[in-house]
Amino acid sequence: MNKPVIGVTLFRRAKDKSDSKYGTINCNYVKAIVEAGGIPLLIPIVNQPQDIKYYLELIDGLLLSGGQDISPEFYNEKPIEELGEVDPDRDSWELNLFKEAYKKKLPVLGICRGMQLINVALGGSLYQDIYSQHDNSLLHTSINGESCAYHKVLIEAGSQLEEILCCLDSLYVNSYHHQALKTPGQKLKIVARSDEGIIEAIEAENSDQHFLVGVQWHPEDLAGVDDKSLSNNCFQQLFKALISSAKSGS
Ligand code: MN
Repeated sequence: MNKPVIGVTLFRRAKDKSDSKYGTINCNYVKAIVEAGGIPLLIPIVNQPQDIKYYLELIDGLLLSGGQDISPEFYNEKPIEELGEVDPDRDSWELNLFKEAYKKKLPVLGICRGMQLINVALGGSLYQDIYSQHDNSLLHTSINGESCAYHKVLIEAGSQLEEILCCLDSLYVNSYHHQALKTPGQKLKIVARSDEGIIEAIEAENSDQHFLVGVQWHPEDLAGVDDKSLSNNCFQQLFKALISSAKSGS
């Protein structure tokens, strides 16, 4: 059987003080897709929405990667002081890319910013900064940058995510975000929360017909970790679920 091709979006940043910007990706995304049996294909940021159809013809599934904050203009808010770095061109390109992929019912996995992007594309909104806008927020920004299991998430019983994550009702995840979902977008189910109620994962309401999963943590950084206490196989299962949906076309 052919291996499914998974489009992966890029993080764009300046490498130094020059004007040149570089499209980059954490190689762990690529590795996780390869190990799950897929062919990763990196999709650059191209401000040509009319060309999205060509990219979508090349791929069987889409992985929306992490990165900067999403500009609040896309969910009709003014920026607050605590907003981080934004790249509105990237936002606009990826919002269009996702919307077209969604119309085609392409399997989609959104990671961190990628989950937030799915939510905004479907009409939801974000906390621009959980520490100043969400009551009693615990820390979700791992200070040492290590991919350790940082906080607990509670998984919704009966969800597709629960099935993917080895039927666990809770697990410890890494965490590098200061934004989070505020109001959920249309036709999305909230399927995981942190102890204090921050939304940590979403999936499609009709998850039996469309693979659309978003997680606020970074499974790509834990998928290869050889530590059973991290439930490492379960993180890799997220990529396997994407690949298997991309194979079957849903
Ligand atoms: Mn978190």
